[in-house]
Amino acid sequence: TEAGLRELLASRIRDVPDYPQPGVVFKDITPLLADPAAFSALTDALVERCTALGASKVAGLEARGFILAAPVAVRAGVGFVPIRKAGKLPGEVFAQSYELEYGSAVMEVQQGAFEPGERVLLVDDVLATGGTAGAALELLRRAGAVPVGLSVLLELGFLGGRERLGGHLDGVELDAL
Ligand code: AMP
Repeated sequence: TEAGLRELLASRIRDVPDYPQPGVVFKDITPLLADPAAFSALTDALVERCTALGASKVAGLEARGFILAAPVAVRAGVGFVPIRKAGKLPGEVFAQSYELEYGSAVMEVQQGAFEPGERVLLVDDVLATGGTAGAALELLRRAGAVPVGLSVLLELGFLGGRERLGGHLDGVELDAL
């Protein structure tokens, strides 16, 4: 059942207080990755989303999004596209800067990664302030794709990411497992 799946996944995510800095509770997904039943059940749920949304590519956000998204792409029979931190992807890229708690960062996607109008499911582990996901959705659109889904394992609702994403979520189904 869906409730059973949620319970299984929640039981495999470890809260690490004050990591990587004081006041932050880090959501450690390594116990989930180490449990083949849980990892597989999560993958199946995301494949279902991918298929239901008619996505023909799955995009993963560096670095934990890569781990979650790649098996989804393989099982769904669609391609995988990495969205990476600046300077990691060869060739021509689209670059998008976004705000962090202190300062800003840049993410990139390769030009030509998508067919024009291609429907894409974006995957990451945690939605916190929404800054990262907002930049990624912007990159997908600049690359000519149509983001139709944003799937995260966890949404930290108290940080208001969903609200902050606002218009970035137009036409995008956001779901947290
Ligand atoms: P944000 O841009 O604030 O939504 O942050 C999202 C990104 O930071 C995701 O790629 C997460 O992997 C990571 N992240 C933010 N907060 C946490 C947290 N409490 N635990 C684990 N990862 C986090």
